[in-house]
Amino acid sequence: MATDDFIMRTLNLTPDQVLFISTVIVNQIMIIHIQLKSLPGITCPFCGGPVKIKDYSHHSYNHLDIAGTPSRIDWKRRRYVCKDCGRSFSEGNPFGPERFRQSYAVLKSVAVDLRNIHYSFWDIAQKHHISTALVQMYADSFLRVPRQPLSDNLGIDEIHSKMAKYGGSYLCTITDNRHRSLLEVLPNRSKRTLSRYFEQIPLSERNKVRYVTIDLWEPYKDVAHKYFKNCRVAADPFHVVKNLYDGFSRLRVDIMNQCAYESPEYYLLKHWHSLLEDDRDLDNEPKYNGYFRQKMNYRNLYDMLLDINSDLTRAYQLKEKYRRFNKTCSFEEAPEQLDELIKEFEEADLYCYRNFTELMKNWRTEIINSFERPYDDRKQSNALTEGLNQKLRQLLSIANGFANFERFRARAIYCLNDHVFYSLTHTLTSSKREGKKRGPYKKDKPILKDDPDNSVDTMTDDTDGDD
Ligand SMILES: [Zn+2]
Repeated sequence: MATDDFIMRTLNLTPDQVLFISTVIVNQIMIIHIQLKSLPGITCPFCGGPVKIKDYSHHSYNHLDIAGTPSRIDWKRRRYVCKDCGRSFSEGNPFGPERFRQSYAVLKSVAVDLRNIHYSFWDIAQKHHISTALVQMYADSFLRVPRQPLSDNLGIDEIHSKMAKYGGSYLCTITDNRHRSLLEVLPNRSKRTLSRYFEQIPLSERNKVRYVTIDLWEPYKDVAHKYFKNCRVAADPFHVVKNLYDGFSRLRVDIMNQCAYESPEYYLLKHWHSLLEDDRDLDNEPKYNGYFRQKMNYRNLYDMLLDINSDLTRAYQLKEKYRRFNKTCSFEEAPEQLDELIKEFEEADLYCYRNFTELMKNWRTEIINSFERPYDDRKQSNALTEGLNQKLRQLLSIANGFANFERFRARAIYCLNDHVFYSLTHTLTSSKREGKKRGPYKKDKPILKDDPDNSVDTMTDDTDGDD
């Protein structure tokens, strides 16, 4: 029957291995009764002697949904006894690990789903009709993520999370800017944590790091200089420009709040400020403006905005000048142009840019380094890291259940690094619960049963014998 063939395929079996297969639906679960053919020429694994069938045991495995129906394998398993030494043994098991309740197909499917950042542990549990705790235990057991080798171009960044440890509120992420993958997540972004992490990496590996891109967090700079002797540190342009935009916005809002409510100035600063922020074609087809009761295009509104306040206009010009520099300057010209900008910002002496002016001075070298284009003619930036952080935030958001840093780290790297694979182990472990005192570090504490919610194990070999 075609269905049987399909089911056999989900079990990774060929028809010539199967002696008997039949399906019956009980309580909306498809039960697959199956018995395998005896292998020809089977001998005793202990002494090589001839064997005969002793009896049968019954094993059941939760299996994948088949055409939307949950399914279960009920396997009648043959047991042999040796005619010479009298010892008994069971036939080989192609369905799932011994003492597990889930078929290999289910375990594999769980592992594949764990790689999908859109699936919470709960989602995966629902899909496979198992408990969330069990999915978490599988994640802890199958996703073993050792330290990944450093890349020659690193990005260091952070992500806000409640899982941050030792008094911080950010996790630190280390990425491979060249291969666009996540290398590590650290429990906070302190100098101490970063130092401890980089210290354990062999010097020869660290010396290969040539570029490090960071945001404007001082400890990253210190650590990068200390541990990567051959690297050039670049400040991520995105963070630099953000500081500039924040300054401009602050001024715009302050001026707006000094204007009479519903005045033309207030109206323009409230509703059309994006004309001073985004790039867009100002010479569009004029449209009727309800406030001014006339047809206007973006340029008309833009000109009015720049007539409101001379500080705002100056701030706008400086902002645009920095943006142009950021977009188009070459590495060679960067020092001179940046110094020129610093001078202009200082002379303008706008309170909204005081922070930014200091930033340009403090991070001068790192800003200049960001204009190097070692690959693909791309500027040095954390843009990639930011993209990965977006995905990490997604992973955080689907999982209230991520109270466990180790588990989050493993899953995040598994999801965002193609070189990390799962391995189906037969020994299950559970990451240490948060909030307990940490004892001596011991990760591989085995737990024998695969279902923490169910203490009855019906799967051992010597139950249900039918003689
Ligand atoms: Zn034997």
